[in-house]
Amino acid sequence: MTLDDLPPLRDTLDGHGLIAKKSFGQHFLFDLNITRKIARLAGVGAGDHVIEVGPGPGGLTRALLETGAQVTAIEKDPRFLPLLEELAQASGGALTVHLDDALTADEAALAAGGPTAVVSNLPYNVGTPLLIKWLTGRFQPISLTLMFQKEVAERIVAAPGSDAYGRLAVIAQATADAKLVMEVSPRAFTPPPKVTSAVVHLVPHAARLDQALLDALQTITAAAFGQRRKMLRSSLKQLGGESLCEKARIDPSRRAETLDVEEFLSLAKAI
Ligand code: SAM
Repeated sequence: MTLDDLPPLRDTLDGHGLIAKKSFGQHFLFDLNITRKIARLAGVGAGDHVIEVGPGPGGLTRALLETGAQVTAIEKDPRFLPLLEELAQASGGALTVHLDDALTADEAALAAGGPTAVVSNLPYNVGTPLLIKWLTGRFQPISLTLMFQKEVAERIVAAPGSDAYGRLAVIAQATADAKLVMEVSPRAFTPPPKVTSAVVHLVPHAARLDQALLDALQTITAAAFGQRRKMLRSSLKQLGGESLCEKARIDPSRRAETLDVEEFLSLAKAI
């Protein structure tokens, strides 16, 4: 059997008696127009290596394989393994499946030193910690194309001064170029989630921030946005308050949401 001979996704799921589990954040995409569009937005093609988190029934996986990419899939729910094994066989060796929890998986080992893109319709309950792991950890992907709840996607790309601007925007934009590239209606998923979703495409900066600076940035943003309505002299008191702001040449009477990413980096360097 080849990819073209595979039965429709819904039939595959029914054939294996599988029903979506809420605890695993399972909302499946069966519409190939949507999964193909996500693969296109990811910009992957023949010869590229992709890590996909949460293949589930394999809709997005099929679209990624169609591009000619090599796909390494990490799935936590063992119920999907027999179905994914069929897909792996039909892919003629282009798909490898790992039963693992993406929160603790070693993607750097799976990438084996080669350039690797991440593409995923993420389980919403772990989307943010996974993004932080990929942007600040040992594994250095060349790009990330990820489906989030739209509200989370907006927080990733938010500009200073907006309500959505916070820790996530600062960490994401200090480490990558991030764009919201597609919105997806709840109706596109089975079962439909309560909210609209959106795909964010991130390209990590070529020059990685060093680990000490990243740690300092996490500390500063946690303190500053933990009390976002307060002035920095007060929200950053434990970290040096006014004298820290002076060192970074930032007015201590400003509030966290008015600082741009460069200004947060200046504060992080001053710690
Ligand atoms: N990719 C499929 C699609 O688009 O139809 C399924 C997406 S569904 C939103 C999320 C998938 O992630 C499910 O298959 C779920 O079992 C899996 N998952 C949930 N938590 C996970 C984790 N911590 N590590 C790896 N996979 C996980």
